[in-house]
Amino acid sequence: MRIALSLLVIGIAAGASGQSLEDETVSRLAEYLRVDTVNPPGNESNAVDFFAKLLDAEGIPYESVESAPGRGNLWARLEGGNEPALILLNHTDVVPADESYWTTDPFSGEIRDGYLWGRGALDMKGTGMLQFQAFIALKRAGKPLNRDVIFMATADEEAGGFYGAGWLVENRPELFEGVGFVLNEGGGGSRSGDTVSFGIEVTQKVPLWLRLIASDAPGHGSTPRVSSAVSRLIRALSNIDHYEFAPRIVPAVEIYFEGIAEDQQGNRRSQFANLSEAVKDPSFLLALQLDNPFLHALLRNTCSITRLEGSSKINVVPPEVTAEIDCRLLPDQDQDAFVTLLHSVINDPAVRVEKIMGFTPAVSTTDTDLYRAITTVAERHFPGARVVPSISTGFTDSHFLRDLGIVCYGFDPTIIPVEIEGSVHGNDERVPVASLRDGVRHLLEILELVVY
Ligand SMILES: [Zn+2]
Repeated sequence: MRIALSLLVIGIAAGASGQSLEDETVSRLAEYLRVDTVNPPGNESNAVDFFAKLLDAEGIPYESVESAPGRGNLWARLEGGNEPALILLNHTDVVPADESYWTTDPFSGEIRDGYLWGRGALDMKGTGMLQFQAFIALKRAGKPLNRDVIFMATADEEAGGFYGAGWLVENRPELFEGVGFVLNEGGGGSRSGDTVSFGIEVTQKVPLWLRLIASDAPGHGSTPRVSSAVSRLIRALSNIDHYEFAPRIVPAVEIYFEGIAEDQQGNRRSQFANLSEAVKDPSFLLALQLDNPFLHALLRNTCSITRLEGSSKINVVPPEVTAEIDCRLLPDQDQDAFVTLLHSVINDPAVRVEKIMGFTPAVSTTDTDLYRAITTVAERHFPGARVVPSISTGFTDSHFLRDLGIVCYGFDPTIIPVEIEGSVHGNDERVPVASLRDGVRHLLEILELVVY
């Protein structure tokens, strides 16, 4: 039905292939989903080769670099006037997919039932292809640009971005000179029933990944002591698991909840509109965590216990055991203060806490022409749709660039039905073909408002 409807849409700017931009976007994304960039190990140079061929065909110069063998990164620049440059940033790697849980081959790029299926369809080869197609549409249009527009496809986001965007910031800082804006993943359109809404991601919870190391006397499994490294670690983790981090409302979250309050049912409507009152009630927090862990995670610091390593033999009580916990802090949380709090929660000097990774927090302003352009195009096509700044519970490569003072928005105009949002990093990841076709036109419209 949706595909049939989309046939009524008039195509724009046919490219070298003779296809409309929309047709080309769909077929190229299908092909891109077949390119193996599963991370680990990454092999993102496969994606570099894929884009290089397309850029060659368009006559657009590009550069690429491997941050490590096979870890390719590529960028291409359309030169324009002196306004601050805009980067279209996308990561080319995808997380693994276990075919036995999918209804199709995750790397087939199959089109079925109105969807394009495959790992990366949403995160974020779909967005990357939209950016690429909008980028080449600007080139094909041949009109002078008021700013440079840069298409940048990077490696390794799914493992932290240190071989991708992080590496480029570190090793090719000149690429980011004169850059004012970045469009990246992290927000976009969503459809729940008949309601369409847009979130423009302006900040993120900040990951703080920690390792807990418990030590005690080793021994034989046949003769347990009163305490062991393992028992200490279990107690520490249990304390963390049961600890209720105090809720706190940061401004971006308050605006976001106010923005979505009207769409809520019953009590939730007033609770979301008066969030700082609502969070005083522990039953509100618990209920929210039960039915919407994403929204709940925006209201407090959190820690997930994710990795455990004990003895290598069943009958050996080890001298040392470790666990890793994935903590996500509100954007204004001081990290040292958080670790101090965690020590008091663990309450055992035989358990050490080491920092594996932590990012610095940053928030992008909404007072920009790019933000207004996104809002304008969203309201043009979806009158009455809510457009709100949002905060992401996860992190993306945007933090590397926000650290440089560049305004970054997580935004892809493709409308994703809420029921398939869970396929990101999950099974049967897919994107509605009709939404994808609309998405590429809408992204191009956004760009046209800021580059001419
Ligand atoms: Zn992603």
